[in-house]
Amino acid sequence: MVRIDGSQGEGGGQVLRTALALSLVTGTPFEMVNVRAGRAKPGLLRQHLTALKAAEAVGAAEVTGAELGSKQLSFHPRALTAGNYHFAVGSAGSATLVLQTVLPALLHAEGPSTLMLEGGTHNPAAPPFDFLEKTYLPLLNRMGPRVEVVLDRPGFYPAGGGKFRVNIQPAKLQPLHLMERGRVLRREAVAQVAAIPFDVARRELETVAGVLKLREDQQRPEELKRAFGPGNVLRVEVESEHVTEVFTGFGERGKRAELVGEEVAAEVKRYLDAEVPVGEHLCDQLLLLLALAKGGGFRTLALDAHAHTQRETMAHFLDVNFDVREVARDVCEVTVRG
Ligand code: ATP
Repeated sequence: MVRIDGSQGEGGGQVLRTALALSLVTGTPFEMVNVRAGRAKPGLLRQHLTALKAAEAVGAAEVTGAELGSKQLSFHPRALTAGNYHFAVGSAGSATLVLQTVLPALLHAEGPSTLMLEGGTHNPAAPPFDFLEKTYLPLLNRMGPRVEVVLDRPGFYPAGGGKFRVNIQPAKLQPLHLMERGRVLRREAVAQVAAIPFDVARRELETVAGVLKLREDQQRPEELKRAFGPGNVLRVEVESEHVTEVFTGFGERGKRAELVGEEVAAEVKRYLDAEVPVGEHLCDQLLLLLALAKGGGFRTLALDAHAHTQRETMAHFLDVNFDVREVARDVCEVTVRG
C-alpha cells in the first residue's frame, strides 16, 4: 500500500487525480491523507468525489473516505474494465478533470470504451474542452491510441450543465518526441459570451489583438444561447506545424474584460517568445503520458509547481527517470526514460 501526503507540493486535486490514474494503471493500492490541504476549501469537492467514484467504477475498486469534504481516503483497484460509462459531476465542477482521472487507465484496458461526461466543460484551473480536442488528444493519438471527443453541450463556469462523449480505442503508448514547434500556421482569438453583454467579447478581443497584433479576420466574437450562461470564455489558438496550443481565460463578476484579455495575451506571448512547442498546462499532462510510454521528450517553458508536484506523485507508482535541462531563459528540455 502506497502512502501519499496530499499536501505535497501544490497540495491540490492534481495529486489525487494522478494517484488514482496511476493506481488504476499499475494496480497499486494507495491511501492518501491531507487531501487537497493546500487549497482554500480542502478535502474532496464534488468534482474530486466524482473522479474518485469514476475511478472506483473503472477499476472495480474498494474505496474508503468517498464523501464530500473527506481529507483521507484509500483506494484499492481490483480489475480494470473497459466498457460504457456515464459520469456526472452534478455541479459546474470540471468534467474534463474526471476524464483526466480515468483516461490513462482506459488506454490500458483490454477493449474499447465509451464515456458520457456531464458537468463543466469550460472551467478555470481545468483543461477546457477545446484544449482537450485540439491540443491534448491529437498528441495522445500520435502515441498510438485513438481517442475522439464530441461536445453535445458546453457547460461554462459557473453555470455548468455541459455534456460530452468520448470514444477510446486503446493501444500501447509509444514515446512522443516534441522538441520543435515548427512554423506558426494560424493564430485565432475567440471570445464567447452566454447571457453576458456582447461588448465584453469585443473588449477582450480588442485587448488580445492589441498585444498579439492580430488582424480583424483572426478575431471571432461569438454569442452563445442564453441557456448556456452566464458564462464568458476567451481562448487563443496557436496552430503550428507540430502542435496546436490553446490558451484560455475566464470572465468573472467584477473582473474587467480588458484584464481577461491581458492575462491570456501574456500567456500566449510568453509561449510564442520562448519558441517552444509545449505550454505550461500541456506540460504536466504530457509528463504523465510520457511516463506511461516510458520514453520521449519535449521542449517547454520553465517548469512550474504543478509539473514538479506531478513528478513527485508519479514517483510513488512508476519507476521512470526525468531529465530536465534548462537550455535557455524560460526554455526547458524534458527527457523521459523508463
Ligand atoms: P483542484 O482545484 O481540484 O485542487 P488543482 O489545483 O490540482 O485542482 P490544477 O493542477 O491547477 O488543479 O489544474 C488541474 C489540471 O488542469 C492540470 O492538469 C492543468 O494542467 C490543467 N489545466 C488548468 N488550466 C488549464 C488550461 N487553461 N488549459 C489546459 N489545461 C489546464
